[in-house]
Amino acid sequence: MQNFLSTIATIWRLSLPYFRSEDRWPARILLAAVVALELSGVAIHVILNQWYNRFYNTLQDRDWNAFVSAILFFCVLVAIYTVLVVYQVYLNQWLQIRWRRWMTQNYLRHWLSAANHYRMQLLGDAADNPDQRIAEDMQLFVQFTLSISIGILNSIVTLCSFIVILWTLSARAPLHLFGSSVNIPGYLVWAALIYAAIGTTLTHLIGRKLIPLNFQQQRLEADFRFNLVRTRENSEQIAALGGEPAEREGHLNRFGLVVGNWFALMQRQKLLSFFTQSYSQASVIFPYIVVSPTYFSGAVQLGGLMQTASAFNSVQSALSYFITSYRSIAEWRAVVQRLTGFQEALAAGRAAALTPPVIEVVPREGEAALTIDHLKVRLPKGKLIVGVENLALRAGEHVLVTGPSGAGKSTLFRALGGIWPFGSGRVTVPKDAKVMLLPQRPYFPVGTLAAAVSFPAKAGALDNARIAEALVAVGLPDLVGRLGEEAHWNRMLSLGEQQRLGIAHVLLQPPDYLLLDEATASLDEAAEAALYRLLQERLKGATIISIGHRSTLGAFHGRRIALMAADEFHQAREVTLVPAAE
Ligand code: ADP
Ligand code: MG
Repeated sequence: MQNFLSTIATIWRLSLPYFRSEDRWPARILLAAVVALELSGVAIHVILNQWYNRFYNTLQDRDWNAFVSAILFFCVLVAIYTVLVVYQVYLNQWLQIRWRRWMTQNYLRHWLSAANHYRMQLLGDAADNPDQRIAEDMQLFVQFTLSISIGILNSIVTLCSFIVILWTLSARAPLHLFGSSVNIPGYLVWAALIYAAIGTTLTHLIGRKLIPLNFQQQRLEADFRFNLVRTRENSEQIAALGGEPAEREGHLNRFGLVVGNWFALMQRQKLLSFFTQSYSQASVIFPYIVVSPTYFSGAVQLGGLMQTASAFNSVQSALSYFITSYRSIAEWRAVVQRLTGFQEALAAGRAAALTPPVIEVVPREGEAALTIDHLKVRLPKGKLIVGVENLALRAGEHVLVTGPSGAGKSTLFRALGGIWPFGSGRVTVPKDAKVMLLPQRPYFPVGTLAAAVSFPAKAGALDNARIAEALVAVGLPDLVGRLGEEAHWNRMLSLGEQQRLGIAHVLLQPPDYLLLDEATASLDEAAEAALYRLLQERLKGATIISIGHRSTLGAFHGRRIALMAADEFHQAREVTLVPAAE
């Protein structure tokens, strides 16, 4: 029960924001229309129930005129009902897509804001496969929430209306047993209630195992798919290492889990179907059995019998709504659990950036240098890896950071770039200064080359002539003719070419502080030197901080910071440079 209430509360919490958002009026109007149409449908059922009585009596009385008018009445009713149902579905779908659009925009905003997606990934796999959460779960959530809550509303209203009808019918035709009349007020209502209560309880007992199984199924499927995508993305490495058998085995193992869980699902589903099928077949006949003593005693007419049976069926099917939609409800709960997990991961990602101790990156007015105070960079789990006591990097300086591999150079750069909150201390950046972090492997979105170089500026934001000029400058004249070509550039270009393209990107959107994390390490020494000369020439006044291993890089940097092994971490220390002999 507690569980049930907390699920309802969660669904409420997940749904409410949309109906309070900027799209609230269309949302509320559509929802009201859908509910109104649904309730009109129930009203038509009530009218139809009374019609049963009249219609079957015309049959029993062989009254032709009454029969014809009953048929005409039925036609009109059905025509109205058809329109109601069609528009109910149509408006429901309309509401669904609006709601989903809003949710998707909203979650994307939280996920893709201020490096939250990156921190979430660093913090662990609490939200496995955000792609599935956003693409699939939101759709399912909206769909199930609407269909199930409207279904429940329909059941409640149907139940209330038909219980009243059954009650009056019971009063009109008291129960006849063994030749005498037994007075149980509302006996038809009680019979329907007991019948449905038994069904619901048994369904729950048999079906509740389906919830975790469904949850597991979706997770396993997503895992399987995600790993297939990884193989596709890394096909070169896998081919080069001859890793196909290992990959295949990995995929087959994961798929084996999918199949194993599916079998467990099948078993449960079979048990449940046995029960629900026999139950719903029995429901056809059950009301006739209940009313038969009264009918055969002559206390009611055929119309009364049929009306009772129909009302009984309505009550019973409303009560067993839970049974018929058990599977959907189970899936719905699984979707809700996954979405809340995702929400929690979003919140944890945000909290990681805000809850002290964190590495603060603060812009400050009137400041001319990037200064570092008592910086301690830690891993997400808390292990200290790099310490920097006090350091000021002034405008126009060129600084080389060196240290053994794994010392934490890249992580230090992430901290300076403001995307690594784990640790403590403060980085002060001049106000409005633009800090750009260029990693060893730059990222280019799939699309035209012009858009790839312009990222993260919008495609078309930069003039093609300027892009062409930058491409020539970084030594990629061959690409100038392909600016409009669409491709997966990360996959197509060599790492050296990607790094040149990365530098072109820097030239086009010049930063004030450029952090180069082995950004030219895949190029030959001559090309690297040429690019450094280009950067120094074009980015006058910008501070360039590089990580690099080549001794030749020293010539382009006036200062050097080395990460030296301290007790259990690396401490950054300024290295005094001895001017090279002329
Ligand atoms: P460098 O660039 O100096 O070679 P990195 O900064 O990339 O080193 O990494 C420093 C250390 O931190 C390495 O031991 C690495 O394994 C560890 N590390 C980096 N990122 C993470 C992470 N997200 N989770 C756990 N450990 C990490
Ligand atoms: Mg590194």
